[in-house]
Amino acid sequence: MSGVRLIETLPKVQSHLHLTGAMRPSTLAELAARAGIDVLPVLDLDGVHEWPAFQGRYDAARAAVRSAADVARVVREAAEDDAAGGCGWLELQMDPTSYAPALGGVEAAVEAVLAGAAAAPIPVGVIVASSWARPGAHATRLATLAARYAGDGVVGFGLSNDERRGRVADFAPAFRIAADHGLARTPHAGFFTGAAHVRACVETLDATRIGHGTSAVGNPAVLDLLVSRQVALEMCPTSYPPFGVHPLASVPVRAALAAGVPVAIGSDDPLLFGVGLAGQYALCRDVLALDDAELAALARGGITASAASADLKRTLLAGVDTWLASP
Ligand SMILES: [Zn+2]
Repeated sequence: MSGVRLIETLPKVQSHLHLTGAMRPSTLAELAARAGIDVLPVLDLDGVHEWPAFQGRYDAARAAVRSAADVARVVREAAEDDAAGGCGWLELQMDPTSYAPALGGVEAAVEAVLAGAAAAPIPVGVIVASSWARPGAHATRLATLAARYAGDGVVGFGLSNDERRGRVADFAPAFRIAADHGLARTPHAGFFTGAAHVRACVETLDATRIGHGTSAVGNPAVLDLLVSRQVALEMCPTSYPPFGVHPLASVPVRAALAAGVPVAIGSDDPLLFGVGLAGQYALCRDVLALDDAELAALARGGITASAASADLKRTLLAGVDTWLASP
């Protein structure tokens, strides 16, 4: 029977979450008050925005994060919130550059996230991300930093921010370092850009997952590429409507699944978009009309594409089977 199983009891992983965007609104209010700064009002989710409206709010929220203890608190609380929604493995993405001025360097920023991860109720893997808006050489420095922590809590390397702002080839050296150290490779692509950009990230950067990548769903050749390499698309349903990328009811989750592409659900920035991980699954059920077998396929896709240990993946996948088999 469809629709009776609780979303919160479906074992799942968080595949796409940014550090500041993971902050609880109450924590942001507290940290901003303590820092004596104003925080921009929340994004009007009924409107359509250009990227700077989002980035400005993100930057304003990040300005309230002033210490390693603040960072660790945000990580721990994010893990608590996702754990409450049935998450058994959290991947948290952060650009250490943005936190370095307040924390005393990029290394200190990574250490602060790892300290929060150590105090979290579920295992947390850190994805060090550079920005499409910064030079390739900067990404190479961050990939080198990420590589130093491979096996020590850092599990991936990404590229965040507005994907229209960089040239794919400039980032190839950074992603080669990530690959050489066994890190997952998760650039944002195919959000504002077309399917060709997704293809370039897979072929040139050897991406193992794509942050968003929804534009690929309209392109059979790129879908074939994703299927043949089992590159997952990290979809975050509430991230698209505020930019006019997709109305909620048109987020192409089912089409990607039907094509055989692994889909890994994330919540991206619940601070700004207002919906956490379990809520994203609930929207897949309630708005996209996915049945429980399809929800289980989403959970499996995220688990399989994650950087969790083989043991943890086995446990979570068995839990998905049990969930689906339950009456
Ligand atoms: Zn993102």
